[in-house]
Amino acid sequence: MKIDMAYGSGGKQTGNLINDIFLKNFDNSILAKMEDSAVLKVNGKIAYTTDSFVVTPMFFPGGDIGKVAVCGTVNDLLMMGAIPKYLTAGFIIEEGADMETIDRIAKSMSLAAKEAKVQIVAGDTKVIEGKGGVYINTSGIGEIMKSGISISNCKKGDVILLSGNLGEHHAAIMSLRMGIENTIQSDCAPLRSIVKNLLEHNIRVHCMRDVTRGGLATVLNEVSQSSSCCVEIYEDSIPVSAQVKGFCDILGLDPLYMANEGKMIAVVPENQAEKALAIIKKSRYGANAQIIGKITKGSGVTMTTSLKGSRIIDILYGEGLPRIC
Ligand code: MG
Repeated sequence: MKIDMAYGSGGKQTGNLINDIFLKNFDNSILAKMEDSAVLKVNGKIAYTTDSFVVTPMFFPGGDIGKVAVCGTVNDLLMMGAIPKYLTAGFIIEEGADMETIDRIAKSMSLAAKEAKVQIVAGDTKVIEGKGGVYINTSGIGEIMKSGISISNCKKGDVILLSGNLGEHHAAIMSLRMGIENTIQSDCAPLRSIVKNLLEHNIRVHCMRDVTRGGLATVLNEVSQSSSCCVEIYEDSIPVSAQVKGFCDILGLDPLYMANEGKMIAVVPENQAEKALAIIKKSRYGANAQIIGKITKGSGVTMTTSLKGSRIIDILYGEGLPRIC
C-alpha cells in the first residue's frame, strides 16, 4: 500500500499510520498515552540534542535511515557523558512511499532503540508531495553521568583514542550508489557500551566526539580549535579495514575525511590511556580501537606519515558526499 496525501490529513488514515506502524513498533507506556506531549521523569542535569536524517538510499548494508536516526542522536548524547533515555521522532513522508518501507524503518528504529536502551516517547508525521522519500528528525534527552566533558577541555599531554576502523559508512553508501560490489557494511551503531564502560571505570575523559560527516580530520580540527592546542596523529596507528583501504585506493579517497556512524574519539589523560584502550577494546563496537595520537602545544592537526614525514591535516572543504546521513 502506498502513502497518499490523505495520510497527512490528521484524520482516519493518519490514525491508521500512527496505530499500525509507530505505536506498534515503538511500543511503550509513555507514547501509548497519546497525550499532546510526553511527561518524563529525569534525574539531575540533562543533555538535549536534535538531528535530521536524509540519507539516500534509505536501506544499505549494515543499516538504514531508521537505525541512523536513532544511533546518531543517541551517540551525540553519549559524547557529552550523558546516558540516553528518551527520543522523539518526526517523520516527513513523501506521497508514494510504501507503507511496508515505513514499517521496515520503524522496526529498525525500534531495534536500535532497544539496544541503546532509549524509549521513543513522542512523534509526528507529515505527508508532502514528492517521490516516495522519507526524512526523519529525532531529538533526544540523556541524563548526565559525568559533567565537564567538552571539546574545549583537551589538555597538553592527553592521549587520543579512536574506537575502530574508519570509513565504513561512507564506503557502504558510496558502493551502493556506484553499483560497486563488495561486502563493506555501514558501521552504524549506538556507542553506549563504550561510553558507559569508560565512565564506570572512572576514566577521567576530557572530551568525546563521534566521528561522523567530515570524518576524523574534521573532528580533530574542531578539537584543535576549541581546546587551542595542536593535535598530533600517527598514520600507522589509524585503523582502516583492508577492504575499505582497497576501496579508497581505487577511488582516490582518504579515510580521514570519510563519514562514519559508529565511531568516536575519546581524549584522556596520558596515564589512563592504556587502561582506557583496554576498556574500549572490551566494549561492544570497540574491538579495533587504537591510540592514534596526542595533544601538544601549538595549533592545527599534523600527521606523522608511514614514511616518517609530516603532513598537515586540514578540515574537509566542499560538500564531501551529500545525503550520507
Ligand atoms: Mg556529534
